[in-house]
Amino acid sequence: MAITFKVVAILFVMIPAYYLMRRVSWWLKQTRFLLYKRKLTQGDIIFLEKYFPFYGRLNPIHKKEFLSKLELILSSKKFVARGGLNEVTNEMEVLISATITMVTFGWKRLRLAHFHTILVYPNTYFSNSNKTYHRGEVNPRFGLIVVSWRCFVEGFLDEKDGVNLGIHEIAHALKLAHLIDSDGEKEFETQAWKAYKKLVPTELENVKSGVNPLFRNAATLNEHEFFAVALENFFERPWEFFNTRPELYQSLVRLLKQDPRVWAKTNE
Ligand SMILES: [Zn+2]
Repeated sequence: MAITFKVVAILFVMIPAYYLMRRVSWWLKQTRFLLYKRKLTQGDIIFLEKYFPFYGRLNPIHKKEFLSKLELILSSKKFVARGGLNEVTNEMEVLISATITMVTFGWKRLRLAHFHTILVYPNTYFSNSNKTYHRGEVNPRFGLIVVSWRCFVEGFLDEKDGVNLGIHEIAHALKLAHLIDSDGEKEFETQAWKAYKKLVPTELENVKSGVNPLFRNAATLNEHEFFAVALENFFERPWEFFNTRPELYQSLVRLLKQDPRVWAKTNE
C-alpha cells in the first residue's frame, strides 16, 4: 500500500510541480527578453517590406503584431556563424527570425523556446552524423536550428514553388517542440493534432501515388518530412494547397491557428 501511495503521490504532485516549474522558468526568461527587447530599426522594417512577402501583405494591425513578435524572437535567439561564414549579419538574423515569426504567427507568445540557438553556414555543409551534405537540420538534443544561408535565400527567390528551407526547418522545430513536453510552451491543441495525425497516412500515400502533385517527393520519406513539406506549401501557395487537398489544408489551419489565404487574398 505504501508503495502505491508513493507512486500516486509522484503522479499527482511531482509531475504537475515539474511542469509548473518549467512554465515559471519560461516566464522568467520571457520577462527578461521583454525587458531587454531588441528593437527593429526603420531600415529593418523597410527591408522586411521589400524582401519578406508575408509581412508586406499583412494589414497595418497585423504588421504591428508581427513586428512586436519578431522583436521578441530576435531577442530570444542566439545566432552563430559556422563553416567559414564571417558573421551572421543583421539581415540574416531578421530574415531567419521573420520566418519563425511567420510560422508561429497564430500563437500570441510561442517562441520555440527549446530551440535557442541558430547556426548559419554559408553553403551546404558536411554532417559527420550521416556523412552527407546538408542544407539544414534541427538538433533537439542541443536546441539547435541549422541553416545554409545560400539554401535559405534560394527558398525565398521563388516564393510560389513550395520549396523553402527556412519554413522547412522551422516546421521540423515546431513539430519536435510539440513532442518535447518540458519546454514550458504549448504548441498544438490536442484535438487539432489528433485530427491532423489521422489524415497523415492517407495523405502521404496521396503524394506517393500522384493524387497530390503539389507536394514534392521528399514528403513521402516519413511523417516529419511530410509535415515540413506541407508547411512549405501552406505558406508559399495556400490557395493551390486548399484547392488540391482541402481537408488537409483545413487541419493545418486549426493546428497553426492561422490561414495564409487571408493574406494571399487572390486565388492565384
Ligand atoms: Zn526535413
